[in-house]
Amino acid sequence: MKVKVGINGYGTIGKRVATAVNQQDDMEIVGITKTRPTYEAKDAVKKGYPVYVPKESLEAFEAAGVPVAGTVEDMIEAADIIVDCTPGKLAEEYKAKYAAAGKKAIWQGGEDHGLTGISFNATANYKESWGAQFSRVVSCNTTGLLRTLYKIDENFKIKNAFVTLIRRSADPNDSKNGPINAIEPVVKLPTHHGPDVQSIMPWLNISTMAVKVPTTLMHVHTIVVELEKEATTEEIKEVIRNCPRVMMVKNKDGVKSTAQIMDLARELGRSRGDMFEIVVWEEGIKVVGNTLYFYQAVNQESDVIPENIDCIRSMCKLEADPAKSMEKTDRSMGL
Ligand code: NAD
Repeated sequence: MKVKVGINGYGTIGKRVATAVNQQDDMEIVGITKTRPTYEAKDAVKKGYPVYVPKESLEAFEAAGVPVAGTVEDMIEAADIIVDCTPGKLAEEYKAKYAAAGKKAIWQGGEDHGLTGISFNATANYKESWGAQFSRVVSCNTTGLLRTLYKIDENFKIKNAFVTLIRRSADPNDSKNGPINAIEPVVKLPTHHGPDVQSIMPWLNISTMAVKVPTTLMHVHTIVVELEKEATTEEIKEVIRNCPRVMMVKNKDGVKSTAQIMDLARELGRSRGDMFEIVVWEEGIKVVGNTLYFYQAVNQESDVIPENIDCIRSMCKLEADPAKSMEKTDRSMGL
C-alpha cells in the first residue's frame, strides 16, 4: 500500500514535491490544491493530478473550464499525509483542519518551529519525526547550513560559526519582489537563520547576518567556523565531500559562480534544471589555525525537496534507516 500524499499549495515548492513524490514507489499523489485556474493549475490537470480547490474558487475553475476533483477538505480526507506548501499566515487555519481530520502534515521553512515542535533535516535528525503527526522541513538556507555544519561538527566539534547569507531577491518565476538594483541588508541582527539551525542543532553556537541581492538563481553563504579539534584543509574537504546531498565543484573547471552551477544542473538533466545538492567550491575551503573558511551555494527552489520525501518516510514509518531513505530518494530523483 502506497502512502497517499496531498499537496496543499502548488507553487514553487509544492510543484517540486509533487514531482518527487511521483518518482517514489512507496507513496503517491492523491491531489494538489490550487486557488486560481492559472497555467500551473492547467498543467497539473495535464500531468494527471486531481486538482482540489477552496469552495470559494469552484466557480472560477468552472468558468475557466479547468476540471476540479473537489474541495481542499475533500483532498485532506483522501490523503494520509498533507505536504503543506502554502505561503505564510495560513498554517494555523490548516493545522486545525488537518488535526480535525486526524491527518499527518508537513510544513515548510516559512513557518516557525513552534507550529509543530519538531523540525526536520534528513542528515541531522531523521528519527525525530518518526511516526509524528506534524513536522516542519526547515528553510532552504537552514537546510544548506545543516547539511555541511552537522558533519563538520560531528567530526571536528564547532566552537562558533559565523555565517553571512547572500540571498536571492526573488524566485525566477516571481516578477513582484526585489530589489532589482540594490543590496538590502537585514538589519534585525543576528538574523533568524541561526535560531532556525538551532531548532535542530540546539547545541551549536551560530550567528548569522544576511543581505538580499538582485539575482534569482541561488543563495550563497560565506561561512567562518572556529573548530575545537585541529583539522587540516584536506581533512575538512574529505568531510564535506562525504556529506550527503552536497556537491563539491571546482572553480578551475569553470564553475565560478551560481550561473554555472545552474547550468550544470541543466546539463545533468535534472527535473526543472534544479540543483538539489548544496554546492561547495573546493578551492574555497581553507583552514587557518583553528578557523575554517568556506563558501556554499543553495538552490532555494529545490534543496528542500528530497528532505520532504524523507520526512514523509519518517513520519509514515516507511523506512527506519535514514541512510536507506536518503539513498532511495536520491536514486529516484537522479541526484
Ligand atoms: P509560492 O507562493 O510559490 O506557492 C504557494 C502556493 O500556495 C501558491 O500556488 C498559492 O496559490 C497557494 N495558496 C495560496 N493560498 C492558498 C490557500 N488558502 N489554500 C491553498 N493554497 C493556497 O510559495 P513557495 O515559494 O512555494 O513557498 C511555500 C513555502 O515553502 C513557504 O513556507 C516558504 O517559506 C517555503 N520555502 C520556499 C522556498 C523558496 O525559495 N521559494 C524555499 C524553501 C522553503
